[in-house]
Amino acid sequence: MIINQSEFSVSAVKASQYPEGGLDEIALAGRSNVGKSSFINTLLQRKNLARTSSSPGKTQTLNFYRVDSDQADFYLVDVPGYGYAKVSKKQREEFGEMIQDYLETRAYLKGLILLIDGRHEPTADDIAMYDYAQYLNLPILLVATKMDKIKKNAFNKTEAAFRKHLNLNKDNVTFLPFSSVTKLNVDQVKDWIQARLDE
Ligand code: GDP
Repeated sequence: MIINQSEFSVSAVKASQYPEGGLDEIALAGRSNVGKSSFINTLLQRKNLARTSSSPGKTQTLNFYRVDSDQADFYLVDVPGYGYAKVSKKQREEFGEMIQDYLETRAYLKGLILLIDGRHEPTADDIAMYDYAQYLNLPILLVATKMDKIKKNAFNKTEAAFRKHLNLNKDNVTFLPFSSVTKLNVDQVKDWIQARLDE
C-alpha cells in the first residue's frame, strides 16, 4: 500500500459526529504515552498530523484521519489513550462509554491496532484492553512500540513478555515489533491494514 495523502477529518464524542461516506475504518488504541501519535505520523509520513503527548491541549476525543492510498481510501481512528492517573471516576466512565459506543457499534470498523510499550511488560490496563478487543471479536494487530530502545537480540524477550500476559496464538491476532524512530515494520503495518480492507 502506498499512502498518497492524509488529513485530519473530524473529532467525535458521539455517534452523530462520526463521518459519513462509507469508508472502512481502522482503530488505534493504547495507553497514554505509548507512542500512538508518533505511530500515526510515521505511518502516514507526516511530521505533525497527530499531536504528540508533549503538545498542549491534547483532547479526549475520537479523532478520524482520512487516508488516501493507491489501493483504497479509509479512516484511521485515534481512540484516546487509556490509563490516565489523573482523571475522575466520572470522567473515566464517560470516556469508557464513548470508546465502547464506537468499538461496539461501528459497522465500518475492520480492525483494531493495539499499541503496547515494547520496553515493559503489558500493564493491567493493556491486558484489559486486549481482553476487551478479543471480546469484540475484531482482527487485532498488536504492536510493540519503541523497539529501537531494545537490542535486536532481546526482541524475543519482548515477545515472551507479551505472551506471558496475552494469548497471541489466536487466528485474529498479529504481533509486530515497531519503531517510529527507525521505521521498523511500517510496511508490515500497511500490509495488515490492506488485508483488513480487502476482507
Ligand atoms: P501518545 O501519547 O501515545 O500519542 O505518544 P507519543 O507519540 O506522543 O509519544 C510519547 C513519547 O514517546 C514521546 O516522547 C515520543 O518521542 C516517544 N516515542 C514515540 N515513539 C517512539 C519510538 O518508536 N521510539 C522511541 N525511542 N521513542 C518514541
